[in-house]
Amino acid sequence: MESRDSGALRISALRRRLLDWYERNRRDLPWRRSRDPYAIWVSEIMLQQTRVAVVIERYRGFMERFPTLVSLALGSEEQVLALWSGLGYYRRARLLHKAAQFVAAQHRGNLPATAAELRALPGIGGYTAAAIASIAHGEVVAVVDGNVERVLCRLEGWSGVKGRAAAAHRRSLEELANRLVSPDRPGDFNQAMMELGATVCTPRNPQCLVCPIAAHCTTRGEHKTPPRPAMLSREVAHALAIRSGRRGRAGKHEDQILLERRPAHVTVMPGLWQLPVLQDAAVPESVLRMTVRHAIMQVNYYVRIRTVEEKEVDSLTEKAGQRRWVPLAEAGQMALTGLTRKVLTRAHLLPVEPAIAQAAD
Ligand code: SF4
Repeated sequence: MESRDSGALRISALRRRLLDWYERNRRDLPWRRSRDPYAIWVSEIMLQQTRVAVVIERYRGFMERFPTLVSLALGSEEQVLALWSGLGYYRRARLLHKAAQFVAAQHRGNLPATAAELRALPGIGGYTAAAIASIAHGEVVAVVDGNVERVLCRLEGWSGVKGRAAAAHRRSLEELANRLVSPDRPGDFNQAMMELGATVCTPRNPQCLVCPIAAHCTTRGEHKTPPRPAMLSREVAHALAIRSGRRGRAGKHEDQILLERRPAHVTVMPGLWQLPVLQDAAVPESVLRMTVRHAIMQVNYYVRIRTVEEKEVDSLTEKAGQRRWVPLAEAGQMALTGLTRKVLTRAHLLPVEPAIAQAAD
C-alpha cells in the first residue's frame, strides 16, 4: 500500500507535469485572456456540449453586444437568443439571461466569488461554479466536466457508470479531482485538465505517447464506457417559401423568406424562428430541394426541404405559430433554430459559417 508521503509526492509530480505541459500547449482562446468572472461564466456555458470552433465565433459577438453582466440583464430574451443562434441548446441561453437578471437585481450586478455561493444562484451548476471560482478567484476547487471525468476514469482505471451507481461514481470523481487540484494554481490546473481531455485524452484515439501524465495513468488508453443509447430516426419536411423584390427598410428591393415562430409552450426551442412545417413529410422528388440530416439529442432528423410558392403556403403547410415574411438580411440576425440556419446557409441564402453550420441544435 502506498504511504501518505509517496502518494503526496506522486500527486505533486502529476501537477507539475500537467501544468508544464499546459504552459507549452494551451490554446489561445479568447476567454482565456480574461479573468473577468462574467466572461468566464459566458464561455463555460457556451462550451457545454458545443465545439470550441463554434463557440469562438459566437462568444466574440455575444461579448461585443453584452460586455458586462448588467448589459446582459438589460437585454431582451429575443436579442440573447439571436446571438445564441447556431450554438444550440437554447435553454442554456435562457438560464444565463435569467441568472444575469437575478444577479443584477440581488447582487448589484456582481457575481459572488465562492463556488458555494455561485452554486446557489439559479442556472449555475457545480461545474460552472467551480470553473468561475477557481479561474477568476483562485479558489482551490476542482472542475469535473465531461473531459475531466474521462481523464480521471482512465487515470484510475475506472469504468464509466450509468443508472443507480452514477451518483456514487460522481462523488468518487469529485473527491479524486479535489485531491489532485493544485493548491497554488487551481484555475490553471482545472483548465489544464480540461485541455488535456479536449486535445490529448480524447474519447477515441487518446494520444498516450505524448501525454504528460502517462506515467501516472493506469489504463494508458480507452476505458470501458456504458453502451450509448441507439439514435432514433425521424422524418420531417419544411417549406422554403421566398418572395422576391419587396422594398426593404433601406428602400432597396430584397427577397423575403417566410418564417414561423415556435410557440412558447413547446418544450423544444420555444420562441425560436423556423421554416414552416409541411403537412406531408413525403416530398415528391420533382420538388425536393435538399435533404438535411440534423441531430437533436438522441434523434437523427432527416429533413426534406421543398420550395413552396407564396400562393401554396396555406394549403401545403401546418400553421403552428406566428408567421412573418422577413428580409433575408434580417433573418440572419434572428433567433433561428439551428436547422433553419443550416438550411438557409446550404441554400446560399445566408453567408456560410462552416463551424456554426455543423453545430448541434
Ligand atoms: S496516458 Fe492516455 S489514457 Fe492516460 S491520461 Fe494520458 S492520454 Fe489519457
